[in-house]
Amino acid sequence: MRKFSCSNSVFWVVASALFITIFANYTMFTKANSWLLSSGTNQMYMVVLGLYQFLLLLFLMALLTMHKWYKHVLVIFYLLAAISAYFADSYGVIIDKDMLINAAETNIAEAAGLLSWRVLIYIAALFVFPVFVLYKVEITPQTVGKRIFHHLSAALLAVASIAVIFLATSAFSASFFREQKQIRVYSSPLSALYATYQIANRTIFSPSQSFTRIGDDAVTSPPSDYPELVILVVGETARADRFALNGYRKNTNPLLSKENVVSFTNASACGTSTAISVPCMFSIDGKDKFDLSKFKSKENVLDLAAKMGVSILWRDNNSSAKGVADRLPYEDFSTPKNNPVCDPECRDIGMLKGLDEYINKQKKGDILIVLHQMGSHGPSYHERVPENFQKFKPFCKTNQLDKCTNEEISNAYDNTILYTDYFLSEVIKFLKKYDNRFETSMFYISDHGESLGEYGMYLHGMPYSMAPKGVTNVPMILWFGKELIKTHNLDMDLLKRQRDKAISHDEVVHSLLGMLEVQTEIYKKDKDLHFWATKK
Ligand SMILES: [Zn+2]
Repeated sequence: MRKFSCSNSVFWVVASALFITIFANYTMFTKANSWLLSSGTNQMYMVVLGLYQFLLLLFLMALLTMHKWYKHVLVIFYLLAAISAYFADSYGVIIDKDMLINAAETNIAEAAGLLSWRVLIYIAALFVFPVFVLYKVEITPQTVGKRIFHHLSAALLAVASIAVIFLATSAFSASFFREQKQIRVYSSPLSALYATYQIANRTIFSPSQSFTRIGDDAVTSPPSDYPELVILVVGETARADRFALNGYRKNTNPLLSKENVVSFTNASACGTSTAISVPCMFSIDGKDKFDLSKFKSKENVLDLAAKMGVSILWRDNNSSAKGVADRLPYEDFSTPKNNPVCDPECRDIGMLKGLDEYINKQKKGDILIVLHQMGSHGPSYHERVPENFQKFKPFCKTNQLDKCTNEEISNAYDNTILYTDYFLSEVIKFLKKYDNRFETSMFYISDHGESLGEYGMYLHGMPYSMAPKGVTNVPMILWFGKELIKTHNLDMDLLKRQRDKAISHDEVVHSLLGMLEVQTEIYKKDKDLHFWATKK
């Protein structure tokens, strides 16, 4: 072959990204198309999805091929794309972290069992053919400076284009990236590359961490006639400003407003996602020093309470305890196997069933029960509540938020707060039964809030600095039983006067230690909300 007239390696990067986007992503585009059809979304959005795939690939490829060995790197992209496409198209299998780990442990006989004419066709068309062309065509050498300049320009252009497309289609794009993970994971070879990165990161860059104990100095008072019974409700996606208790114009708290609760108006979340906020609120490191990669190898406040002899139970109607309850009794209530109230979605209220038996079975001493809600998790807000809680109408009935008006989205969301109001009031009702045997208390706190269209943003999980107040300002509600108020000498009115003070998830650890009367260096009195209520 003659020398190719275009001496720019960026040409090959653009051509490769286009080739892989078009020919190695059949499954992803088919799935995307059927989702667009079934949800009644304009099929023109396929173009947006195609552009995302192309631009992301272009960005990565341009950055990883700035050197003279760029052809070899492109070969890796072709290979991963061919393998991903083959497994996706043939078996609907995604090349993710677990798949790669499995593949590494596969023996020759098992691997041979996957061979077929079909795999050879994929390898030939998506790997051998482009590699042949790439190495056959001679490219005039280019200077190092020029190559780096061209590649950086291409990468920057790709990122800028992604940002422009995202902003121009924010409602659609936010829904897609949050909700349609089952489509995104088919992106070839991006998922495979990400999985490779995850494994490399885990095995090479993070040496095994030794496990850290906390609070070895901790002591607690001997079991009393009135032990503590604390129910800590970890909320999901609830915004503080949607609680009537905090001044919201719609009555989203018809039941809690009848209880003697203190609702804090100015509490900020540790993170903008469940994966960060839930571990963070139980970590003694606090928001400023919290490091997720170290969380699993260090005890948290629940471990400490358990060491002090507190009986702890974590019931979860969400996805998981995010590592908080790894060393504690854990019950999954998102399945009808354990949760008696599923229609078919398992309701938060189901987590109260059987709790009496649990409490009666415990030996004398304090009890701490954590209930992790499904709460207001979006974008399918309408699915979070049973029919009789769909009070605010008209409400959005789809997870395609771009198909609903702001009012419909708001109403659907407010109905989830109404349901949480009911759930929390049932928790209080439950605790009142134990008022003559325990010092009872309820502590409710949401993990993060939600963006409901502010600045064109929906859902949550954005970087903290970009997140609207609706995402970071979370509801925090305290209720104390009459025995606790009496013995701990508490004054609810004193606490109510401090409800607008700026607090955060950091208060959870210290309030729990305070309520459970655990004395340790870790405990900070000024962050113990229960201490705030103590008559001086
Ligand atoms: Zn969450």
